[in-house]
Amino acid sequence: MSVSGLDHFNVCVIGAGVVGLAIAKMLSDKFDSIVVLEREKMIGSGISSRNSEVVHAGIYYPTGSLKAQLCVRGKQLLYEFCQQYKVPHRKIAKLIVASHEQQVEDLIKLKHKAEDNGVLDLQQIDKQGLAEREPEVAGIAALFSPSTGIVDGHSLMLAYQNFAEQNGCLICLNSIFQAAEKHGDDYIVDVVSVGERYKFKCDILINAAGLDAQATARCIEGVGEFVAPPLYYCKGSYFSLTGCSPFKHLIYPMPEANTMGLGVHATLDLSGQVRFGPDTEYQPQPDYSVPEKKRAKFAEAIKRYYPALDPDKLVPAYAGVRPKLQAQGAAVRDFEIHQTQTGLIQLFGIESPGLTASLAIGEYIGNLVSQ
Ligand SMILES: Cc1cc2nc3c(=O)[nH]c(=O)nc-3n(C[C@H](O)[C@H](O)[C@H](O)COP(=O)(O)OP(=O)(O)OC[C@H]3O[C@@H](n4cnc5c(N)ncnc54)[C@H](O)[C@@H]3O)c2cc1C
Repeated sequence: MSVSGLDHFNVCVIGAGVVGLAIAKMLSDKFDSIVVLEREKMIGSGISSRNSEVVHAGIYYPTGSLKAQLCVRGKQLLYEFCQQYKVPHRKIAKLIVASHEQQVEDLIKLKHKAEDNGVLDLQQIDKQGLAEREPEVAGIAALFSPSTGIVDGHSLMLAYQNFAEQNGCLICLNSIFQAAEKHGDDYIVDVVSVGERYKFKCDILINAAGLDAQATARCIEGVGEFVAPPLYYCKGSYFSLTGCSPFKHLIYPMPEANTMGLGVHATLDLSGQVRFGPDTEYQPQPDYSVPEKKRAKFAEAIKRYYPALDPDKLVPAYAGVRPKLQAQGAAVRDFEIHQTQTGLIQLFGIESPGLTASLAIGEYIGNLVSQ
C-alpha cells in the first residue's frame, strides 16, 4: 500500500463523548494535530447524553482503583474547569440516607472508605440533622457530602470541544471509524466521513468509543495477543417527578451490594426538576425505552426515603446504558485503560463516574503518552 501521500495527525481519538473530548482537550496542549472521529451528527450522542449529570465525590469505589483515583482528581479538575469556562454547575451537595439500624454501620464503613479515597469532607448527621436539612426525607442517619454537585453535561462537552478546537484540534462529525492497521510507527486509519472513504496516518490511536469500544478494538489490526474485556449492557431508567422539588440536595439510599448501581436516587437538574433513577437492568442489546410498568418498582424504592411520594407524579423520562465489564452479580470491575503497544490506547468499561473523571482520564492518558 502506498501511504506516503496520506494526511498525518499526531493523535486520532475515536469517539466524541465526554471522555474522547476531554482527552482531546487535555492532549491539545501537547500535540499540534489531533483529529476526533464521531460517528453521529452531534458530539455526546452516546452514553454522555443519558446519565445523571452528577459530579461525584469519589465515595464508593474500591480504594486505589482507577475509579476512585480518577473520580477524586476529576472532580477537582472539573470544578476548576467549570468555574473558569463558565460551564453551568452547582455544588448542590448530597445526602446518603440510612433507613434502618444495620445501615448505620454500613454508613460509617462508607465514610471510612471515602476517607481512604481522599474524600475528607463527609459529615455524619443524625435523624434530627437530616430532618433539619431535608424535612421530607425519612431516615435515621445520613452522610452529608458537600463536594457532590451537578453539571450541565452538554455545556461541558461543548466547552471541551471549544477548548480543543481553539488549540487546532479537528472534530469530525458523521465520521465512522472503520479499521486501523499498524504500518511502521504509524497507524493507517480508515474512516467513512460524510459518506466518503478517507484514509490517514496517525502516531497515537485512542479508542474512546464507549459502548462500541470492544467492537472498535476488533477492527484494529496488529495488537498482538491483546483481547478486549467482555462487555455487558446494563440499562438505567429514570422517572421525573412533576411539580416542585421536595428536596434541596441530591438524595441517595445506601448503595446496592456489589455497587451494581447506586440505588434509585433523587437528582436535581440545574432547573430544579427532580428525577429518580437509574435502576439497573442487564440486557442483551441497548434499549432506551422506559416502560410505564416500572413505576410501581420505582415508587417502592423511593418511598423508603421519601414516604410522601405520590406515584402518579412519576413520569417515564429516559434511559442510559452502562458499558459494564462484569456479568450480572459478578464482582465489580474497574475502568480499564490499556496501552497495548506504543501508540495504541484503549478505554473499556467507562461507566460512572466517567463524566466526573473525564478530565482526570485525559490527564492520565496525557501522562501515558509522555512516557
Ligand atoms: C445511567 C447512567 C448514569 C450515569 N451517571 C453518571 C453521573 O451522574 N456522573 C458521572 O460522573 N458519570 C455518570 N455516568 C457515566 C458517564 O455518563 C460515562 O462514563 C461517560 O458518559 C462515558 O463517556 P464516553 O465518552 O466514554 O462514551 P460515549 O459518550 O458513549 O462516547 C463514545 C462515542 O463514540 C462514538 N463512536 C462509537 N463507535 C464509533 C465509530 N466506529 N466511529 C466514530 N465514533 C464512534 C459514539 O457515537 C459516542 O458518541 C452514567 C452513565 C449511565 C449509563
